[in-house]
Amino acid sequence: MKIIMLGAPGAGKGTQAKKIAAKYQIPHISTGDIFRANIKNGTELGMKAKAFMDAGGLVPDEITIGMLLDRIQEADCAKGCVLDGFPRTIPQAESLTKALKDMGESIDYAVNVDVPDESIIRRMSGRRACLACGSTYHIVYNVPKTEGVCDVCGQQLVLRDDDKPETVKKRLDVYHEQTQPLIDYYKKTGVLAEVDGTMDMEEVFQAIVRILGA
Ligand code: ADP
Ligand code: ADP
Ligand code: ZN
Repeated sequence: MKIIMLGAPGAGKGTQAKKIAAKYQIPHISTGDIFRANIKNGTELGMKAKAFMDAGGLVPDEITIGMLLDRIQEADCAKGCVLDGFPRTIPQAESLTKALKDMGESIDYAVNVDVPDESIIRRMSGRRACLACGSTYHIVYNVPKTEGVCDVCGQQLVLRDDDKPETVKKRLDVYHEQTQPLIDYYKKTGVLAEVDGTMDMEEVFQAIVRILGA
C-alpha cells in the first residue's frame, strides 16, 4: 500500500504517518526527517538544505526529488510506504507519479489531514522534536514521560528552529501557495481522502483506518 500524507505544516502528518507505518508494517518516509538527519551529521546534502529550511522555504526540487525517488526504490518499500512531507510541489507530484508508473505502480491513497491555520500556530509552538529518532511530542497534547526527554531513545527534545512563530507564518504561506494545489491534483486522480485533523490524535487515526481498511 502506497500512501501520501497531505496537510499543512503541523497538521499531524508525522504523528499519523508513524501510527500507519506501525499498523500496516510499511516504512514511514519523512523528507523533513531525512534532511534533519543530514544536517545533524553535517553532510553536503544537509548543508544545502539547511538555509532553505531555516528560512521557512522549500528545499529545491532538484535536490528533493532525486533523494526521495532513490529512497522509495529501496528493498523495504517493496510492500509499500507512507510518505510524509513529500510531494510538496506539483513538479514533485508529477515526478513521483511518473517514477511509480515506470515501476508499474501508483499511489493508493493521498490522505489530507485538514487543520485550520489558527490551530496550526498553537500546535507548532508546542511541538517538541527528537532530532535523534524523529519522534515528536507536544507540551499539552502529547507530553513525554519525562519533561524534555524522548520516550523512545532518551535524547534531549528541542523546539525546532523553524517552529518559531515568525517562521511558521512563512511556512504556512508557502504551504498555501505551493502544496495546497496537490489536494486538487490527487482529487483528479481519484485517490484523495479527507480527514478532519482537529480531532484528538487517536480519533484522527481511527478515521484514517476506516479509509485504509483494517
Ligand atoms: P512539517 O512539520 O512542516 O510538515 P517537515 O519536517 O516535513 O515539516 O519539513 C521541514 C522542512 O524541510 C520544510 O519546511 C522544508 O524546508 C523541508 N522539506 C521537507 N520536505 C520537503 C519537500 N518535499 N520539498 C521541499 N522541501 C522540503
Ligand atoms: P506535521 O508532521 O504535519 O508537521 P506533527 O505530527 O509533527 O505534524 O504534529 C505537530 C504537533 O501537533 C506535534 O507537537 C504533535 O504532537 C501535535 N499533534 C499532532 N496531532 C495532533 C492532534 N490531533 N491534536 C493535538 N495535537 C496534535
Ligand atoms: Zn528520540
